[in-house]
Amino acid sequence: MDEKYTRLDSDEVMRLITERKEQLGGEVCILGHHYQRDEVFRFADFTGDSLKLSQQAAETGAKYIVFCGVRFMAESADILTGDDCAVILPEMSAGCEMADLAAAADVAEALERISAVAGDTVVPITYVNSSAGVKAVTGRSGGACCTSSNARSVFEWALREKDSGGAGGAKILAAPDQHLARNTAIAMGYGLDDCVLYDPAAENGGLTDEQIRDATFILWNGYCYVHQVFTAEQIEHVRGERPGIKVIVHPECPREVVAAADLSGSTEQILRAVGDSPAGSSWAVGTEVHMVHRLAADNPDKYVRLLSDTPAVCTSMSRIDPPHLLWVLDNLAEGKIVNRISVPEDVAADARAALERMIS
Ligand code: SF4
Repeated sequence: MDEKYTRLDSDEVMRLITERKEQLGGEVCILGHHYQRDEVFRFADFTGDSLKLSQQAAETGAKYIVFCGVRFMAESADILTGDDCAVILPEMSAGCEMADLAAAADVAEALERISAVAGDTVVPITYVNSSAGVKAVTGRSGGACCTSSNARSVFEWALREKDSGGAGGAKILAAPDQHLARNTAIAMGYGLDDCVLYDPAAENGGLTDEQIRDATFILWNGYCYVHQVFTAEQIEHVRGERPGIKVIVHPECPREVVAAADLSGSTEQILRAVGDSPAGSSWAVGTEVHMVHRLAADNPDKYVRLLSDTPAVCTSMSRIDPPHLLWVLDNLAEGKIVNRISVPEDVAADARAALERMIS
């Protein structure tokens, strides 16, 4: 980004973004993830979780999609849109630390190692919060993607007999979020003993052949640092402070937090639960702070707080700031595309197979 953008007054940046958006009209569609900072989120044409936004991206018909999220989201949008649509990430360093914990080559190696012990009974299930490369390995190996709202249905599909429309697996390799996978396994009625942790940094994933044979869920040793901020003690504390308060957390939170909460759900499910609750309700919410603050502002008749006293910020997503947004729009107004996210077609085809298997 040209340095001049960092020297602009913030009101001027806001004014210029509005002007460029008007100038570009329907050619550009700005997507804003729920965790995005307010100064950027306010310019979004569509807001939502990562998959909803990618699907919306495919339907807008816009020539340019400016994705105010993180890299894996822009990759999914590129995979699901045609070549005539350019997907732009305003700041290339806006990655996802959880996605970065699973490299495609490591996931492929893990699948090979597990298959060598357990035969072809393992089905890879990849959380959409992963790189296009990991999605492609999954698609190539007969697996599917999942989101935090459909993980259970996808896990059930993976373990269902082929005759009944499932993938006919006996085991799931779930990457990259161990917590979403463990919480899903428990919700399906499995025990903690049915889950083992695969550590890509350890020899053989840190697992013996026996552990692999005995497990139904092989969980990748990945996590989201934002959701590790929340603890069961905080839940006890907010309940002591405000009796009757309901606690809802994202399934990327550790097992003990989800177990102690009243409810757990994806960002969209959290928005609905709080939004549909009666006036006067009290909520403590365990997910990214920008979304929680907006949820509180949108529900002035309810008490809504962040579960923790310490902020839970997705700093990666916050790297997309108004100057970067203005910079990409200025370039588009001059007919130049900067920061385009383009997934190579061979990777995109396999990744699309994993995404489409999830959707179907
Ligand atoms: S909140 Fe966590 S999982 Fe989501 S984009 Fe940020 S780092 Fe990645």
